[in-house]
Amino acid sequence: MFSAKMEKVNMEDISLEPDIVRKIPEEIARDNCLIALRRVNGKVIVAVDEIPDVTLVEELKFILGVELEFVKSHREKIHDLINTYYCKENLNHALKDIKENESVSQLTAENISDRYRFQNSPVIKAANYIINKAIDERASDLHIEPFQEDAAIRMRIDGIIHEYIRISTAVYPLLCTRIKIMAQMDIAEKRLPQDGKVKYTRGKFDYDIRVSTLPTIYGEKLVLRILYRDDKIEDLNKLGFSRKDEEKIKNMLNRSSGLILVTGPTGSGKTTTVYSMISNIDAREKNIVSIEDPVEYTLEGVNQVNVNLKTGLDFALGLRSTLRQDPDVIMLGEIRDEETAHMAVRAAVTGHLVISTLHTNSSAESVIRLKDMGVPEYFIQDALIGVISQKLVRKICPYCRVEYVPSSEEIKKLKLSSGQVLYRGEGCERCNYKSYRGRTVIYEISYGNGEIMNFFKNDRLNFEDNIKELGRASMRENCMKLVKSGVTTYGEFLRVCP
Ligand SMILES: [Zn+2]
Repeated sequence: MFSAKMEKVNMEDISLEPDIVRKIPEEIARDNCLIALRRVNGKVIVAVDEIPDVTLVEELKFILGVELEFVKSHREKIHDLINTYYCKENLNHALKDIKENESVSQLTAENISDRYRFQNSPVIKAANYIINKAIDERASDLHIEPFQEDAAIRMRIDGIIHEYIRISTAVYPLLCTRIKIMAQMDIAEKRLPQDGKVKYTRGKFDYDIRVSTLPTIYGEKLVLRILYRDDKIEDLNKLGFSRKDEEKIKNMLNRSSGLILVTGPTGSGKTTTVYSMISNIDAREKNIVSIEDPVEYTLEGVNQVNVNLKTGLDFALGLRSTLRQDPDVIMLGEIRDEETAHMAVRAAVTGHLVISTLHTNSSAESVIRLKDMGVPEYFIQDALIGVISQKLVRKICPYCRVEYVPSSEEIKKLKLSSGQVLYRGEGCERCNYKSYRGRTVIYEISYGNGEIMNFFKNDRLNFEDNIKELGRASMRENCMKLVKSGVTTYGEFLRVCP
């Protein structure tokens, strides 16, 4: 049946026989990390990452009805194959009902809408299948990108883009049209960028999906940003702030006026931190207003306003109107322009606690940014009470974490003592073979007169050179600690703190 010494195969060379693969249900394949490949000499070849136990072998023999031969492969490869094959299978299945003579060009706007109003339309199934997959993987973004030969479907998971499958150029326009209909876009317009929203329900949860199109030379690229309303707002400690620093942040939040900034690059978790901060303020005794683009979570007792550029309700107008409504705490999604910067600082020195984010790499840079937006230095000095600068690193999956002996480069760069080990994930079902699960913050906090005043002591050149470096250094230290304690990997350290 199979020998203990299994043949190792190169999966790239393998051609799958769809009829054979299909015989093993997707669930069994996923749960046991195996995939049936094809029939050879009356036996079915099954790729596995380790020799299966007798019960499983018997079950498989029963399902397939023939003798089996097992070949060993990396589980990541098997997992990729399962994704590609079963997803393609589902898509093909979903699309096979579309009549052959219906080319895309024949589908006019009206009859597409008509046809796709029916929930069991194959294209709807295919679109839902892909969106459900993205939600299962907790992807923040789903990319559908046309190229010359085919189209790629990729997902951003924990900050990193992974290719999911490639689909044919015949299927792509149908999928694209379906998603544009979902987002209430003009499906006839293919030459201009568009944006729209989808309220997507899956099980008992609703998800807001923001869809945008971009006309590329091979067609429209779609990006779906998924907002997970089923996420809980975590407390600061769970986000990765130490107890001591959590106290620091709570002290800032106890102030009745001043400006608190959370800074970091795109995708650094600033919004999540701000939400967590707001949920620490007792809304019963205060008037809390948030102006956001868009509102990502709903907060009990907080007046949340969505910025709407189409109607002209931008951050500046939102803030100006909020100030007429007797606010105590104002959460401003982002300070992007001079007008908002001025108003936010003015509000902070006139008895309001203002919390906002800035797109900068360190605490010190945020002061430079405000100065560049024309806010006078003395004004910033008066207003600013604290800056939290942060980035995110991926956490090693706790279910497949293993120790390893570090390389000489790692020992040197991380200043490891002799005998100290490091950690990495091996990849397992729980982390979808990504070796990582979830993310945590690395950060620096500047709070208190001394630390904030430091930003203003130096002349601009020194300031930019020295303090930027200081900020980077503390973030690096922070990340190194996480590598040494097995929270994250050396690879993540290099990626996030180059
Ligand atoms: Zn794992």
